[in-house]
Amino acid sequence: MPDHPSSVSHHDLAVKISRRGTERLLAGHVWVYRSDVVSSDGIPPGALVSVFDERKKFLGTALYSSSSQIALRLLAREPVDDLPGLLRNRIRAAIAYRAQVVHDTDAYRVVFSEGDFLPGLIVDRYNDLLSVQMLTQAMDTEVACQAVITELAEQFKPSAIAERVDPKIRELEQLPKRISSLIKGEKSSTIFSMNGIRFHHQALEGQKTGAFLDQRENYAAAAQYARGEALDVFCYQGAFALHLAERCSSVRGVDSSRLALEIAERNAALNGREIEWIEANAFDLLRDYAHAGRQYDCIVLDPPAFAKSKRTLETALRGYKELNLRALKMLRAGGVLVSCSCSYHVSPAQFLEIIAIAARDVHRNIRLLENRSQAKDHPMLLNVPETAYLKCVVATVSY
Ligand code: SAH
Repeated sequence: MPDHPSSVSHHDLAVKISRRGTERLLAGHVWVYRSDVVSSDGIPPGALVSVFDERKKFLGTALYSSSSQIALRLLAREPVDDLPGLLRNRIRAAIAYRAQVVHDTDAYRVVFSEGDFLPGLIVDRYNDLLSVQMLTQAMDTEVACQAVITELAEQFKPSAIAERVDPKIRELEQLPKRISSLIKGEKSSTIFSMNGIRFHHQALEGQKTGAFLDQRENYAAAAQYARGEALDVFCYQGAFALHLAERCSSVRGVDSSRLALEIAERNAALNGREIEWIEANAFDLLRDYAHAGRQYDCIVLDPPAFAKSKRTLETALRGYKELNLRALKMLRAGGVLVSCSCSYHVSPAQFLEIIAIAARDVHRNIRLLENRSQAKDHPMLLNVPETAYLKCVVATVSY
């Protein structure tokens, strides 16, 4: 186990929050921003604390961060005496929920932070390997890590557990630098499957924890409508492309990362598929293809999050519009557009509007087939809108 700062007992740690912060919690949200913390004197980083309003009314138990703008993440509306016990129960509940909603795969998100009432903890399963991410000071404490790893080991008996580290998040949380590594077992690669398609997994490489598990249900949806000649733009390791290949006569995948395309090719070989992979900047390629009059029957757009914050929203919307405009231009009548956005700051309504405007600008008539979001193993809390971030619009061009 990597070295973690030692945990702190919370019994006498109290944080007082403002009226605005109180209202937010009473409205069902689980975050308190730093600007709403009235007093947090002497509270150590990552502590479990009792939260009170300005009149000293108890509001719940939360995890404290000394550096994040989100100072408190509510864990329970009751007092919590046994943090490890609570973490283990919540993990069991998260696993039980997956048994209800996850099908046709041995790769899925086991724990989705706030979505599973385990703020700061992400756990992904890839067949016999688990990947964990501790994203807050509190989840990074020895007490929390021990409880989480012990429970996961007991429940899954995995060949290995990897810790994936995002250096930027560790810096924001002012946690000591650490690199991704195996924290249990020695196996660092495996093969997993989604919707009957197989994929290579390297526990310590790739984006996120390796794959975009949040798109799993959207891959299946896309494959249901796809046919003819298909283009998967921002294809990463080829997940959409491989699903489209089940139905389409030809598939081409585009990404700017050579490394991602190398794995995409290995994934294609693993499934006995022939897909053409092109290393290019998607904006340039779509512009060139559109100018050259190329046509497709199915185009997938799954770019990285363009709007990482509210400030970059305008630029992001322009980016989404340009991509959708080019794609719509190139779709044959009856063709299918699968257009995604993982920017939380772009709302589902805004995203639909962008696509509608793009269609109007290129004089195409489109019908909405499905207005989708993230796979159900990435649960969305209705009272915590930040848990819903992925949009996947499936539309067809009439003429
Ligand atoms: N569709 C993929 C996930 C895509 S993630 C899946 O379901 O697995 C976004 C991808 O966009 C990454 O692989 C990244 O390498 C790629 N990318 C980012 N900017 C790009 C650009 N300008 N042109 C092409 N690819 C880009």
